[in-house]
Amino acid sequence: MPGGASSLTTRGAGRWLAFAAVLIPLAVLLVLQLRTLAQLEETSAASNRLALKGYGRTILRGTEAFYRQRVEDALQVPAGLLAGDRRAALDAHFASRDGAGIKRYFVIDFATPDSEALFFAPTGGAATTASEVEARAARVAAAPWRVVAEEGTPIQSVSPSVDEQDPDNRVILRPIRDSNGHVRGAAGMILDSAYFSDVLLPSLTRAEQALVPEPLRHDLEIELGVRENGRSTTAPGADVDASFRFIFTDRSLIVRSPSETSKQWAQRRFIGDVSLSLMLAAALLAAVLLAQRNAVRATQLSQMKTDFVSSVSHELRTPLASIRVFGELLRLGRVNEPAKVREYGDYIEAECRRLTHLVNNILDFAKIESGQKLYRFERADVRALVEETLRTFEVRLRQDGFSVDVTSPPTPLPPAWVDPPAVGQVLTNLIDNAIKYSGDARHIGVALGQQNGFVTVAVRDHGPGIDAGEQERIFEQFYRVSSGLVHEVKGSGLGLAIVKHIVDAHRGRVSVDSRPGAGSTFTVELPTHAA
Ligand code: ADP
Repeated sequence: MPGGASSLTTRGAGRWLAFAAVLIPLAVLLVLQLRTLAQLEETSAASNRLALKGYGRTILRGTEAFYRQRVEDALQVPAGLLAGDRRAALDAHFASRDGAGIKRYFVIDFATPDSEALFFAPTGGAATTASEVEARAARVAAAPWRVVAEEGTPIQSVSPSVDEQDPDNRVILRPIRDSNGHVRGAAGMILDSAYFSDVLLPSLTRAEQALVPEPLRHDLEIELGVRENGRSTTAPGADVDASFRFIFTDRSLIVRSPSETSKQWAQRRFIGDVSLSLMLAAALLAAVLLAQRNAVRATQLSQMKTDFVSSVSHELRTPLASIRVFGELLRLGRVNEPAKVREYGDYIEAECRRLTHLVNNILDFAKIESGQKLYRFERADVRALVEETLRTFEVRLRQDGFSVDVTSPPTPLPPAWVDPPAVGQVLTNLIDNAIKYSGDARHIGVALGQQNGFVTVAVRDHGPGIDAGEQERIFEQFYRVSSGLVHEVKGSGLGLAIVKHIVDAHRGRVSVDSRPGAGSTFTVELPTHAA
């Protein structure tokens, strides 16, 4: 193959170029994606933080709105209710209010000598008594308004005032004014702190859950913190730590995602996305490598086919030329001695056999390729098949000076379950190779045997042998070892492919045992029973 080496180098360079053409854009894509993902990680961590803060703010607003609504609903007490049968009138006033979250209502008339507070139950509004601490909380909360009432200064607008000195009895209070704006008394409510923590807060956190990003939603922890000097004492590392306004101002709302912070979550997603990208890139690379391998194989196959055509034409031309020369000599009567005539006849016969062998291989291969090769199995004596095959090589062996040893075990071999012409073809190919690839050696051994339900035939030569790396590939179609002595020998690259196909069809096995410089042994195992 002139220029073979340089064309191989060009092909190798081309392969690397194609590889780089895929690898470089892939690497650039990967780096860009990594950068985008890193930015996305930052953004999603920030957006999670923002979402949680918004969630916290909404709960705080909801709490404030709830208590302001209670104040609007129940503490707008007209000054007129303090006159006459005020207990009954106030009973009626509070009876129609929603008392959820309230421990007691109370009203203080600053006109009564000791400003005694009247208490009312949150549901039904009935007058009730209060504990000493409750009564005290009400009195303390109302004290500033009593001062205003005593001063007698009219006031224009009033917003509710809050007193949280006793955390268990928090008070919201509104002054009761007459039509001139003078403060006459105060209406207030003592809050139920347990309702706030056990009912209101859980219901608000549930109602607003849609504001929390889905993955953080399920294991979110929400608790109430205690505020000291404007800081929560209990919330290191919380996602949200914000104090309540209007009421419960000494408490804070703490929100945290315990299993992972939103940053950790974003990091985990980042790692997941990056691994996925890397896996996809690896899959793409593997696909490219596979495609490239297939392309290389296809190129090799086409190269092998070209070599096949050239060596087969050579193999056909050489024997035909010899037959023509010997035939002409005989026709022209130039050879008179009977010994010479016999010798030329032998040459012609040997060349014809080689031609037949080659043509048989090509035809067989065509049949195998098109799936038309049929086998007719029968019981057959393998030793007889070996001897018959060796007879067809008799002239060639004699001409080339070969000696052949056939050995078999002392006990007779069982018949094998085979297609005799096909097995003949197998033996022919193996013996032909043993002759072709013997180098200077002139001895061939054929050993028969049996083991585990198989009759074995081992064909041994003492030629150059086969490299371990080549031993599997020589059974591929068109494959020929491309270096060393054996490459000088002409061949089609079909012989062993046919051997393997036929042996496989018999459910048998073929193997090679060879070492460079120490000859080769090809062993065929043929079953003694039908499968
Ligand atoms: P070929 O027509 O080239 O002999 P085969 O398929 O019979 O085709 O053999 C494939 C290759 O295996 C041969 O080209 C040769 O390189 C190697 N080979 C086969 N038999 C032998 C042997 N007995 N000794 C050394 N090499 C062998």
